[in-house]
Amino acid sequence: MPEAANTTQSIVDVFLDNFNVFWNYFLVSMKKFDPMNPFWIITMICLITFTLELILPKKQPYSPVGRKNFLLDLFYVLFIDVIFLSIGFFAFTNAVSWGFEKIVVAAGGHIPLVDISLPANLKWLEFIIFFILVDFAQFFGHWLLHRVEFLWKFHKIHHAQETLGFASTRHFHWGEMLVFKPLLYIPFSLLGLDVTSYFAYYLWFGLFLTFFSHCNVDIDFGFLNRIFITPQTHYWHHAKNIPGRYGVNYASSLSIWDQLFGSYYLPKDKKLKPVLGIPDNDVPDSFLGQFLHPFMVLFGRKQKQSTIGGKEVRETKGKK
Ligand SMILES: [Zn+2]
Ligand SMILES: [Zn+2]
Repeated sequence: MPEAANTTQSIVDVFLDNFNVFWNYFLVSMKKFDPMNPFWIITMICLITFTLELILPKKQPYSPVGRKNFLLDLFYVLFIDVIFLSIGFFAFTNAVSWGFEKIVVAAGGHIPLVDISLPANLKWLEFIIFFILVDFAQFFGHWLLHRVEFLWKFHKIHHAQETLGFASTRHFHWGEMLVFKPLLYIPFSLLGLDVTSYFAYYLWFGLFLTFFSHCNVDIDFGFLNRIFITPQTHYWHHAKNIPGRYGVNYASSLSIWDQLFGSYYLPKDKKLKPVLGIPDNDVPDSFLGQFLHPFMVLFGRKQKQSTIGGKEVRETKGKK
């Protein structure tokens, strides 16, 4: 149908336009330091969390630099935050949002569907609402990554890590982003939220928490564990010696979601330590091996192992 052909062509145009916008933005950004620019925010968060990891007491008995995967994790930061974005993920997300909005309008709706944007003097409140909505979407997406066998094949790359450090948060398969990030940002155009005015604050806060939660630091965060994710709770998310089939502590920034939905776990006995990794780990050590691994399993080139959560191990060890 001519209309469908036009729509397809338009999505490609939107993709290419955004691709160019991203590249120009990236090249200009790199030349001048700006603490509110995403690339500089990520660079500074890496430096801050790496410094914290160096100076604070260690949870695991390895050095932040000498541990296995230190360089691989740094490469993952470069891959996810620069290479993958630059080859089109940013453009892909915008093109999907654009296509989704077209469908809403074609179905008789209008954009935004419900306008919850607030006036300029209440943008701080709009930021809090945005943060809570995004964080819940992240929590739910992460919950699904652990429960849907197809998605777990991709998310398993993040959980196969047996040592963690600040950059381990970016050690995940890019396939996760293709599914979840567009879904995450579509609702905001439907709600009339123009996030550009506060997106940098979101990055500073959200990225700091996620990078820091992977740091190899041994501190008791006390009541803060009940509000934000911390290395204390997130290391249990990476543990293979936990109760239950699907894991615990899915939160991305706010641990309130885990408490509301019953997935919060932090043993009172501080002598209990998380053993990081997954049972029957069949994930290769190399970047390329990990890049291909989910597809090799899906297309039958690799024997299927380690089904969701490693039921046998998780159900037989530890009690809340
Ligand atoms: Zn997970
Ligand atoms: Zn993690």
